[in-house]
Amino acid sequence: MKQIDILIIGAGISGAVLAERYAAIGKKVLILEKRNHIAGNCYDYIDENGILVSKYGAHLFHTNEESVWDYVNKFSEWYPWEHKVIAKVDDKMVPIPVNITTVNELFGTQISSEQEMQKWLEDNRTPLDNPANGEEAVLNRVGPVLYEKMFKHYTKKQWDKYPAELDASVLDRIPVRHNYDDRYFSDVHQALPKGGYTQLFENILSNPNIEIKLETDYFDVEEQYSGYEKLFYTGPVDRFFDFKHSLTEKLEYRSINFVSETVDAEFFQENSVVNYPGTEVDFTRIIEYKHFGNQKSSKTTVVREFTVDEGEPYYPVPNPRNQEIYAKYKLETEKLVDIHFVGRLANYKYFNMDQAFKNALDLFYTLEGQEKSQTVD
Ligand code: FAD
Repeated sequence: MKQIDILIIGAGISGAVLAERYAAIGKKVLILEKRNHIAGNCYDYIDENGILVSKYGAHLFHTNEESVWDYVNKFSEWYPWEHKVIAKVDDKMVPIPVNITTVNELFGTQISSEQEMQKWLEDNRTPLDNPANGEEAVLNRVGPVLYEKMFKHYTKKQWDKYPAELDASVLDRIPVRHNYDDRYFSDVHQALPKGGYTQLFENILSNPNIEIKLETDYFDVEEQYSGYEKLFYTGPVDRFFDFKHSLTEKLEYRSINFVSETVDAEFFQENSVVNYPGTEVDFTRIIEYKHFGNQKSSKTTVVREFTVDEGEPYYPVPNPRNQEIYAKYKLETEKLVDIHFVGRLANYKYFNMDQAFKNALDLFYTLEGQEKSQTVD
C-alpha cells in the first residue's frame, strides 16, 4: 500500500483546502469522496443547454476576509458579481432584502430617504424588548404586514416550521435596509470564479502529492487505511460515531429537491434568482443560471427548489434539541487524537463558503504553525 500521511474524508471546500496545504509542505494526501465528483456542494458543470449550472444550488461567493480572498485568487480568476434577489409578492417583483423600493412597491408609499424609511418601520413595527422567537424578532423589526408577506410562509417552506417555532436569532440575521441598496450581500468582495467552481477545485487539488478516490464512502473502506499522521473528516458528525447518540434522537437536516427544466426561450425571468415567499407555490425560489456571467444559449435552464426533510443533508436545523444532541457528539470528537472534524456537516453548523475556507486554513495553521506553512507558498 502507498504511504499516506494525511487522510481526508470529503472533497468539498474543507477537504480540498487541507489537502492543498498539506501537499504544499510535502505530505502525501489521500482524499476519499463518496460522490462521483470533487467540489462538494459547490460542484458545477455545463448542462445540455451549454449553461454552467450548480448541482446543489446557486453559490455566490462573498467575503470580508482578506486572507480568504487572497487564497481563492491563487487558484482562479474571479469576475465581480453583486448578487441581487427579487421576490414575487402579490404579483409584484420586489427587491430582497427589504429596502425602500420594496416598501414603496408593496404599499404604494413614496418613501425617498433613510429617515422616512426608519419612520415607516417605526410606525409599523411591534416593539418587543426581548423577542422570544423568530416571529417576535421579525415583528419587532418590521411589523405584521411585512412579516405576513415576506417572512412567515417562506420560513415555513424553508424549515417546515413557522417563525414562532424557531430561535429569534435565525430570523434576526436577515437584513432590512433603510436605503435603496438592493444587493443581497454587503461584503467587500463579491465575485464568481471565471471557469466555475469545479475548475477552481481542480486547481486547488492539482498538486501531485494529492490522490483522490471518488465514489468511495469512507465507512465502506476505513479498515483499509491506517498508519496516517492525521485524519480530517468533513462528513456528518453523527455518522462518524455510527449514530451513537442518534438512535432515539437523530440530528435533523433540511434538504432540497432541485427540479430542473429546459425552457425554449432566451430568458425565463428577469433575474438570476426569484424568491416566492407566499403560499401560492410550494417551491422557495427559481434559479435561472444563464444570468450568472451573462451566458449565451438559445435555451435557458431553470431550477425550482423545494425544501424537504429527507435527502442530502444541507441545512442543520438550529433548535435547542439539535444543539443538545450535537453537544454530545462534540464531546466524543474531543476525545480523539489526530482526528479532526472540519466543515459544515462535521460541526453541524451552516457555514458560508468563505467561512469554510477560513476554518480549514485556520485549522491548518494552528496544527502546523504559520511560519513553516508560509515558506512553501
Ligand atoms: P461539503 O461541500 O458538503 O463537502 C463535504 C464532502 O464530504 C461532500 O462532498 C460529501 O460527499 C463528502 N462526504 C461526506 N461523507 C462522506 C463519507 N462517508 N465518505 C466520503 N465522502 C464523504 N455558501 C456561500 O458562501 N454562498 C452561497 O451562495 C451558498 N449557497 C449554498 C446553497 C446551498 C443549497 C447549500 C446547501 C449551501 C450553500 N452555501 C453557500 C454553503 C457552502 O455550500 C458551504 O460553505 C460549503 O459547501 C462547505 O464546505 P464543506 O467542505 O464543509 O462541505
